Amino acid sequence: MKLKTALTLRLGTALLLCTLFLLPLPAQYTDGKSLRPVKNVILMISDGTSLPVLSASRWMRRYQDSTAQNLHLDPYLCGTLVTYSSNAPIGDSAPTTSCYMTGVPSITGFIATYPYSQPQNDLVRLDATRAYRPMATLLEIARLETKRKVGLVMTSEFCHATPADCSAHSYDRKRYDWLVPQMVHNSIDVVIGGGSGLLTKEQVQFLQQEGYTVFRDQLEEARQDTSSRTWQLYGKRSIPYNLDRDPKHFPSLAEMTERALEKLSAGERSENGFFLMVEGSKVDWAAHNNDPVALIDEFIAFDDAVGKAIDFAKRDGNTVVIVTSDHGNSGFSIGRAGFPKKYDEASREELFGFWSKIKRSAEGMAQLLNSYPYSQVQSLFEQYGGFRLEEDELAALQHCKGYKNSPLSEAEKDSREVSPTLYNSNLSRLICEFYKRRLPVGFTTHGHTGEEVYLAIVAPEGVSRLIGVNQNYQLASYMKSLLGIDAPLESYSNRYFAPHTELLRGRSYKLAKNGKGEIVLSVREKKGMRYEVQAFSNVVSIYKGKKLIGQAKLPLATVYVDKTDCLYLADSFLELLDQTK
Ligand SMILES: [Zn+2]
Repeated sequence: MKLKTALTLRLGTALLLCTLFLLPLPAQYTDGKSLRPVKNVILMISDGTSLPVLSASRWMRRYQDSTAQNLHLDPYLCGTLVTYSSNAPIGDSAPTTSCYMTGVPSITGFIATYPYSQPQNDLVRLDATRAYRPMATLLEIARLETKRKVGLVMTSEFCHATPADCSAHSYDRKRYDWLVPQMVHNSIDVVIGGGSGLLTKEQVQFLQQEGYTVFRDQLEEARQDTSSRTWQLYGKRSIPYNLDRDPKHFPSLAEMTERALEKLSAGERSENGFFLMVEGSKVDWAAHNNDPVALIDEFIAFDDAVGKAIDFAKRDGNTVVIVTSDHGNSGFSIGRAGFPKKYDEASREELFGFWSKIKRSAEGMAQLLNSYPYSQVQSLFEQYGGFRLEEDELAALQHCKGYKNSPLSEAEKDSREVSPTLYNSNLSRLICEFYKRRLPVGFTTHGHTGEEVYLAIVAPEGVSRLIGVNQNYQLASYMKSLLGIDAPLESYSNRYFAPHTELLRGRSYKLAKNGKGEIVLSVREKKGMRYEVQAFSNVVSIYKGKKLIGQAKLPLATVYVDKTDCLYLADSFLELLDQTK
């Protein structure tokens, strides 16, 4: 009996431990005030930002402006978020912001899509039957269920992982051919950021028919625009780093944020409030490149945008601003072994004086070097970097495969003739080496890191904030409360992303490729009626016999997933079939 009890206890403890490990703890740490809905929610994400980036940015801001003591977000720092993928503690952008937007961590590359289960690695309990199914996002639910206006601002291309996580669905973040049409068809009120080269003529026409103004690389015209629904895109893909940005052609993140706030808080439906996501996308890219100069400047530009959002929230009085990152990146540190001087005794001037003289990102400097003859190399570094290259650096530059104006022919570029610590075939990466040599900062990797990320929240008097260490999915739950969304998020995924095989059971339908290779769902009903909807579109074409007799819109674009061979669509499609009989 005793043995049996002990065994049962041991089994019980094992099961409990197992459950504790697998089940997310429901506890959410807040400051205990009222967790009530507010009118507007602004989520600001500096992608891939480890905490030392804030430290270095703060020192740099103080160095550059003696009246500026702190970052705009400093007074509101309230805790951290533990951020991870469903099957790995170190997260990728796609599954981490997916989790903020849906409450479920996912897998590397997955955009607001339910992860498949890997029982030995899963960090949260998963429902294997939902693998690959699109998950409705807080942005989508805020628009559809609370009638808020919604917006996205970013410095990357608009369909990059983080903004896509808010407004599109795919298990492959690289499939822009799946993501872009969804974003175009998902009625986002305001999209301002990078990617002017990513919309087709047909997509621009569609947006214009839907009442949007569309501006591509037209900053002056966009500044005059008074419409409340707009797409404003700059740069074929991303917007250049803030340091390299020509202000005549590219707006700052702060300006884009202000413009989005103006548009979302005015015009039709503005009385319902809004949800806005702003991403400082390229903090992450600079960290990947190990470019300390772009990294800190890009974060300061993000913090300037945070300042604009805080100003708005203070004026408005019914707005919450949440500022955070999605994962760490690069193991950036202030101080490193091997710096020529004893770095922990370096003065502020020694640390930041030289640094602040560098006026181009490594990528921007690479573009300059490739635009001017070799004879101007030293003067370019003097002008934009405040330094001249050493002999070994000049040799590394001459042998760099990415350097087009090298006096050496391609055949003469032999890596063995360059110091192995300096050799790099990528010009921008090589320039990062030149910068890092001169700065007392370190990097441990070109990839993401697994520490928790900072969290700052600005809330009106009496409205609760998350404090302490919270999990990524608890941010989703917090924003859900702020938006006044009551039902479980999964119920919205069921409603807006029903698999066609379940939704249309008992009906006559076909899911197949058309002549252009597009996936089309076609449903035949009585009296010669036929309803067609294409994957990644929300437009339903209604035919009687062969004649197109009308069109209707679904609340969200459909999502086709080849892994399950399913088209996921809103269940209101059924009402459409029944209404128009
Ligand atoms: Zn990221």
